[in-house]
Amino acid sequence: MQIVFIGPPGSGKGTQCGMLSDALGCPHLSTGELLRRTRGKSPLGDLVASYIDGGCLAPDFLVMPLVIKLLEQGDFHSGCLFDGFPRTVAQAAFLQNYLGERGQRIDLVLKLRVPREDLIARLSARAKLEGRADDSVEGIQRRLEIYQTRTEPVLSFYHELKIVREIDGSKAAGEVFSEIMDFVNVA
Ligand code: AMP
Repeated sequence: MQIVFIGPPGSGKGTQCGMLSDALGCPHLSTGELLRRTRGKSPLGDLVASYIDGGCLAPDFLVMPLVIKLLEQGDFHSGCLFDGFPRTVAQAAFLQNYLGERGQRIDLVLKLRVPREDLIARLSARAKLEGRADDSVEGIQRRLEIYQTRTEPVLSFYHELKIVREIDGSKAAGEVFSEIMDFVNVA
């Protein structure tokens, strides 16, 4: 099954994707994680880090080779949970073509909705716990703005395919997960 999670930073995509990955035995592709792992490993990795730390999207020439490399691995052939990808309409179009050429398609898009004040509170708490540079006040504002301008249009792309299901991500993680399972079971 191919499932895309879309939601602003702090909406719980990573947590929910991890839980669903365990439940379905399906691999979890987090582009944020992939990109963070390149930090300090090469000049390109340091370039990636500068985008992440500034709260900006990394350019496609850095993101796409990592995504393609992972998708080519055997584990990902039967299904994938996409967390943080696609984040732009161009990335969504790429994924659509990539899967289409392999006789696959996205089965479900789960949109996590969380009020802005809750997102800011969650991300500020995470900044204290994990010390992520992009969870600074400016980083949070920039990422929320980029979500609105670059990533929300991806939802219109998927709305046309009638595969978007919206979930109240402000509830406790267990409740959110059980709503997700309800949608997954009927997809
Ligand atoms: P995340 O862990 O999903 O919050 O992502 C952290 C950061 O990684 C983002 O703020 C971007 O800088 C970068 N990033 C993650 N996914 C993408 C993507 N699909 N395209 C471009 N940049 C990305």
